[in-house]
Order: sequence, then C-alpha cells, then structure tokens
Amino acid sequence: MALLRRSARQQPTPIDGIDCLYLDLDGVVYKGPDAIPHAVESIRSLDARAVYLTNNASRTDAEVAGHLASFGLELTAEDVVTSPQAAMRLLASHLEPGDPVLVVGGAGIVVEVEARGWRVVRTAAERPRAVVQGFHPSVGWQELAEAAFALQAPSADGGIPWIATNGDWTIPVAGGIAPGNGTLVSAVHTAVGRLAEFAGKPERHMYDVATERFAAASPAMVGDRLDTDILGARRAGIRSIMVLTGVDRGASLIGADETMRPDHVIEDLRGLAEPIAPLRETFERSTGDTYFEVGTAAVRRSGIDITLVRAGARPVDTIRAACAAVWTADRAVLGLRISDELLAL
Ligand SMILES: [Mg+2]
Repeated sequence: MALLRRSARQQPTPIDGIDCLYLDLDGVVYKGPDAIPHAVESIRSLDARAVYLTNNASRTDAEVAGHLASFGLELTAEDVVTSPQAAMRLLASHLEPGDPVLVVGGAGIVVEVEARGWRVVRTAAERPRAVVQGFHPSVGWQELAEAAFALQAPSADGGIPWIATNGDWTIPVAGGIAPGNGTLVSAVHTAVGRLAEFAGKPERHMYDVATERFAAASPAMVGDRLDTDILGARRAGIRSIMVLTGVDRGASLIGADETMRPDHVIEDLRGLAEPIAPLRETFERSTGDTYFEVGTAAVRRSGIDITLVRAGARPVDTIRAACAAVWTADRAVLGLRISDELLAL
C-alpha cells in the first residue's frame, strides 16, 4: 500500500508547471447563489495565480470581484477578465479618443468604454463609430433597433464595427433559462444582414487579455463547458481542464468533437492538486479487444462496441477510460456503439 501511495504521488497534477489558472465562474466557482463544494478552498490553496474569466457582460469587474470575495476568495477587480474588456481590445485599433460608441447593454460595458476615453451613446442619431452589444436584463427593443439603425451599412461599404461581447444563446437566471446575448445579437443580425464579431469565449481574446495582463508564461483554463471554456482554451493554445461540477457531463465529454477535448478532466476543483491517475491501455491479441483502465475503472473497445467492464470508484475514472476508448478509435463517434451505461455518466 505504501508503495502504491508513493507511486501515485509521483504522478503530475493537472496544474503542474502552471503560473496562472484561468477559471470560469458559473458551474466552476459557484452555481446560482451558492459556492460549489470544495471550490473556494481549492482556489485558496493554489500556488498559481487565480484569474476569473466571465462571458457575462452585465456586471463590471469590480462587481464580479465583490461577489467572489463574498465566498471568501481573496482578489481584486484586476483578477477578473470580462467579455467587455475583450471587446475593447478588438475596438482599440478602430477608434480615436472621444469617439462615440453605441452601447447595447449595461454597466459592464459602459465602464470599459469610458475607461478608454470613448463616449457612450445610445442612439444611431449620435453617429457612433462602433456598436458594442452585451447582455443586460434591461436591454429592450428600442436599444436593439438603435443598434440596427447604426449598423445598416455593411463594413465593406464603410459601415462601423459591431462587437458582441459573447454569443451565448441562453443565460441561466433565477427564474430559469432565458434568452442570452447570442439570441439578442441574432435579432439585430436579422434586421441588418451582417455578422457581429464576438469577443468572449470561445474566441481567444479574453484568454489573450489575461495572458497579457499577468504576463502568464504557462497558463491553464478550467471550465465546465466544452463549447466555450475548453474550445476557447484550445484556440488560445493553452492547457485545458474540464471540471464536472457544471453544465457538461461525462456523455458530452465522451462524444466531444476533437476541437473541444480538454487535456484533463476532474470531478471538482480538489482534482487540480491531485495526481492524475494513470491510464493503462491493453491490447488482447486473442480477441482483438482493447481495454482502457483508470484506477479501478475498465472500458473495452471491441470493434465498434465500447462497453463498460467495471465502474471505477470515482465516476471521473470511468469517464476518462471511456474517453480514451472513444477518442483513440479509428472512426468518428457516430460510427461507434457506446453502451448506455457509459452515456449515462
Ligand atoms: Mg460555466
């Protein structure tokens, strides 16, 4: 047993060599009003600097920092990167000091526009030089119409830049799932027939803002969504860690497109500092089957069939074994028969 323990300690952790850890918020640090179990103490014990990346444009960096501090985290507004900040980065080359910017959205965008010496306007009649659109509960038809009026001309015909903070179709709020910024951007798109440029995840701009701000040499991203957090990290060329405390679960990970597969998967944030359990792959010559084992979990690939042989003590071990079986197969996910037990993970 002592030998086993020693060899386990020699395994690297998901954040070995990392100087900056970028964290998504919803589904990683908190869910609704509550902190996710083990998240706060795991972040507090990190050796790496914690930086928080949020696609939600409705709050300022200071408001987000205040919210996180209420859970017991130590941080300042500088440790928060918002999608409006990434939007400003995209606008910088287009604007001069004092230029008017039409804002569709709330304080999260307004403070960033003003901090750069640009002027917030709310109507097309004020001849804005750019439109920035982000979610805020107050956004209504009048603002969407003003944005559409300002964006009538395509950019190829001298039209002004249109930056959307993020493209999330939905946003979870206290009452349920509501239309998100992507849905509202789509309403303007329908009116003007041109496409917005997106600043937030899964584009790489927020990761670039964070990496520049902290001169990060070796950052990693931890997130709960494959199509935003992990895809964005992959595009930014940084290490990616999926945590199973939020939206995406085992089944979506097993079936994930190659572009959205994370480097590591952990059950909750305690996994950041835990040694990665080794993956063992065994080819059985007599049957042509391949076995994938993590901890006590075992998954078999036999032709196109992927089946559970033995569930692991921890679901994450079974998920990792199943991912290995599917991701190393010589055919696409849709060409495989994955057993229901694995798809229920
Ligand atoms: Mg999330």
